Amino acid sequence: MSQMFATRLDRTRSLMADQGVDVLLVSVGADLPYLTGYEAMPLERLTMLVVPVDGDATLVVPALEAPRVVERPGVFALRPWGETDDPIAIVADLVGAADTAAIGDQTWARFVVDLQDQLPRTRFGRGSAITSPLRSVKDAHEIEMLRRAGAAVDRIAGRLRSGEIELVGRTEAQVSSELGRQIRAEGHQRVNFAIVAAGANAASPHHEPGSTVIESGQGVLCDFGGTMFDDDRVGYCSDITRCVWLGDPPSEFVELYDVLFEAQAASVAAATVGTPCEEVDRVGRAIIADAGFGDYFIHRTGHGIGVEAHEDPYIVEGNETALVAGHAFSVEPGIYVPGRWGARLEDIVVAAVDGPDPMNRVDHALAVIDA
Ligand code: ZN
Ligand code: ZN
Ligand code: ZN
Repeated sequence: MSQMFATRLDRTRSLMADQGVDVLLVSVGADLPYLTGYEAMPLERLTMLVVPVDGDATLVVPALEAPRVVERPGVFALRPWGETDDPIAIVADLVGAADTAAIGDQTWARFVVDLQDQLPRTRFGRGSAITSPLRSVKDAHEIEMLRRAGAAVDRIAGRLRSGEIELVGRTEAQVSSELGRQIRAEGHQRVNFAIVAAGANAASPHHEPGSTVIESGQGVLCDFGGTMFDDDRVGYCSDITRCVWLGDPPSEFVELYDVLFEAQAASVAAATVGTPCEEVDRVGRAIIADAGFGDYFIHRTGHGIGVEAHEDPYIVEGNETALVAGHAFSVEPGIYVPGRWGARLEDIVVAAVDGPDPMNRVDHALAVIDA
C-alpha cells in the first residue's frame, strides 16, 4: 500500500514548508519505517532517506541491504552505495544548497558530524520537529494495530492473573522469558521488554528481572510489551502492567493498591480530547498524594506509543499539549516503597471524540492467586 507512505510523505512536506525546513534526513529509528516501511540496521554503514521539501525522496542504502528494501514507486527512489563509495558525499550531494535540514533524532553522531563538515552552510535541526507531530496522531489503521497489540498482551495478562502462568518457585528471569515467548506467540514479531519484579524488587520501576526466586507471600509486578507489524512492515507497540499477589495480601498493600487503582482510573477518565497532557497526570497524582503516597510516585504518568514504545505525547507536568483525537499514550501511575514493595497499573489509551478509548481491558483489580 504505497498510498499510505505517499500520504505520510505529503504531510511531512507540508509540515516542512510550514517550518521552513528545506530537507529532512532520516536514518535509524522509527521515523524511517513510518515513512517508508523500511527499517535500517543500526550499523556503521549509513542508511538515509533524503526528503527535499519540494522534490522526490531518495533512500540511500548500503548496496548489501538493498535486497531488503521493498521498493515503493512514487514514494522514494533507491540509491544503493557500494563498499568503497562515500555515502556522506552522496547524501550531501542530494541535500545540495539547502539552508535548513532537519535530521532524525536518533541518527548516529558520527554521521551528523560528517554531514555538518560537508555541508557548512546548512543549519541542522531535529527531525522530530517534523515527524513527532505526524506520528503522535494515529489514524484508524494505526489505532486498529494498537488495539490488536493491546488485545494480545491482555490475553497474556489474563493468564498471569488467573495463575495459569506459573510464578512461585521460578526466577523473575524465567517468568520474563515465558512472557517473551507468549508475546511472540500472541502475534508480535518483536519483544520489547518483559519486566518481572517480585517483592521489594517492585519498588524499582524498571527492575531488571534476575535470579530472585518468586515466593508465596509476595507481590509480583509484570510490565511487558512487543511490536506487531502490519502488512506494510510498520510495527506498532503494546505495553501493559499488571500486579498479582501470591497468597493473602496484607491489608496495607491492598490499601496502597486501591489508591493506585482509583488514581489510574481517574487519569484514564480525564484523558478526553482537549484536556492538556499535564492535567491527566495531575488528576491521578492528586489522588495518590492525598492518600499520603505522593513521594512514592516517582515518574510521569505516561508516554505516547506507536511505532516506538516511548514517543510524544508525554503525560507529564509541564506538557500543556491538549489531547486530540488519535493521540495514543500510556496511563501508568505507580507507588514504590523502597525496600518493601511496589505497584504499577498501566493501560494504553487513545483519545477519541467519544471519550478515552482503552486498548487494554483486562481486569485492573489486584489479582490474588492461591499460593
Ligand atoms: Zn517504564
Ligand atoms: Zn509498561
Ligand atoms: Zn509504558
